[in-house]
Amino acid sequence: MLVVMHQWATEEHIHRVKEVIESMGLKPVVIPGSERTAIGVIGNQGWIDDTPLMQLEGIREIIHVTKPYKLVSRDFHPSDTLVRVGEVCIGRDFVVIAGPCAVEDRDQIWTVASTLNDLGVKVLRAGAFKPRTSPHSFQGLGREGLRLLKEVKGAFGLKVITEVMNPGHLEEILDVADILQIGARNMQNFELLKEVGRVTRPVLLKRGLAATLDEWLASAEYILLEGNSEVILCERGIRTFEKATRNTADLSVIPLVKELSHLPVVFDPSHATGRRGLVRPMALAAVVAGADGVMIEVHPEPERALSDGQQSLNLEEFRSLYREITALVEFVHALDLKRDQGILQTEG
Ligand code: PEP
Ligand code: MN
Repeated sequence: MLVVMHQWATEEHIHRVKEVIESMGLKPVVIPGSERTAIGVIGNQGWIDDTPLMQLEGIREIIHVTKPYKLVSRDFHPSDTLVRVGEVCIGRDFVVIAGPCAVEDRDQIWTVASTLNDLGVKVLRAGAFKPRTSPHSFQGLGREGLRLLKEVKGAFGLKVITEVMNPGHLEEILDVADILQIGARNMQNFELLKEVGRVTRPVLLKRGLAATLDEWLASAEYILLEGNSEVILCERGIRTFEKATRNTADLSVIPLVKELSHLPVVFDPSHATGRRGLVRPMALAAVVAGADGVMIEVHPEPERALSDGQQSLNLEEFRSLYREITALVEFVHALDLKRDQGILQTEG
């Protein structure tokens, strides 16, 4: 429920509304705005009887929220959430996250990290614990992978994102990771979501294999409800009847997420397509669609990769894509500025 106050409502009116909400056993969340203040209500598991609020002064309207999420919605938080990771402010600066699917050995991760660092990439991705479809496939180096990530992080000053699959690994992962990745397969592992909701570290939440937008945002809500509001959403394609690509890239969800939620959203063209040749066009398309960043798999020798080689770019391919992304981001930014200033409309 959302209690929208009149513009003329005083601090005293707002205070009284909060008190009454608390007396109903619920939690008020004040949402200040330039036009008017609103008070979000959380803690209910069903319809709220709003009779106790009816007589209070200063209330303009009471909106019953029927969506399965509140804290992640723009209604509850109108301005964009910015997630700071070192020098990068995700949600304001376009972020390029790159690296291999998995850490495989010392040579591999050092080669990738040093190339990315030379280019100016700030965030390195690489899995240590890997969620693999077959138990016979490479499962990641585990603890040794974390150790290698820590080593390259120390050498290059890169920020690191790596996947957490098991709450039992969280402490060790927190020792290395600047962003915790929740993979598609765990998007609805609610206990895991609550665990990462209790730590102070940004979380990148991938969309589930066949999750609707509402289900994805409801999963993000689990993390925010525990107190961690530094959530980055990641579209990575969904399973459809189309088998020509590994997944179906849902680019339209990007502007839609930006409309419904204040959380930043990045796009993963590697998993969304599963095909090296499609990574470049889809990464560029995501920039135009308004994504806050992209996450791309890069391997020094994709044909020898232990996981996801078919969708990984080699270092040269990534180098050239990175330049294109940087140029396109600047172009789109300039276009947005022109639109905001109304120049495009008046140019004839
Ligand atoms: C990955 O990022 O390597 C990965 C396993 O992704 P997803 O969870 O999207 O399949
Ligand atoms: Mn992968």
